[in-house]
Amino acid sequence: MALLEHTQTVLTRRHRELTRRIQALERDRRHTDAAVSADSADRAAERENDEVLDRLADATLVEIEQVQRALERIRSGRFGICERCERPIDELRLRAVPDATRCSVCAAAAMPPPGNAVPRAVQEQ
Ligand SMILES: [Zn+2]
Repeated sequence: MALLEHTQTVLTRRHRELTRRIQALERDRRHTDAAVSADSADRAAERENDEVLDRLADATLVEIEQVQRALERIRSGRFGICERCERPIDELRLRAVPDATRCSVCAAAAMPPPGNAVPRAVQEQ
């Protein structure tokens, strides 16, 4: 099945990218922790920078989890099946959102997660 193979390739590559990004973020974070400045303005800037890095790391970890879940679904033969209504997810949607675990109807019905973030699956429709 061409779409399945294509999706697996895309997701595997994405997983590698995200893992690299997390490693880079952790390196940056350690760097700013180590370079504690005596100047309070610098310290505030470093704290702000840390917060940005933390948010980026959080978002990256969420995406890694999504990608892992999608890869797991491929391995267990549930690729392309909506995890909510168990109907097939249409192919156009899978091509646009390779890690989609819900059909467009269920994704649209899903509540946004805490915070104001719009779920990625909905954003990319
Ligand atoms: Zn569904």
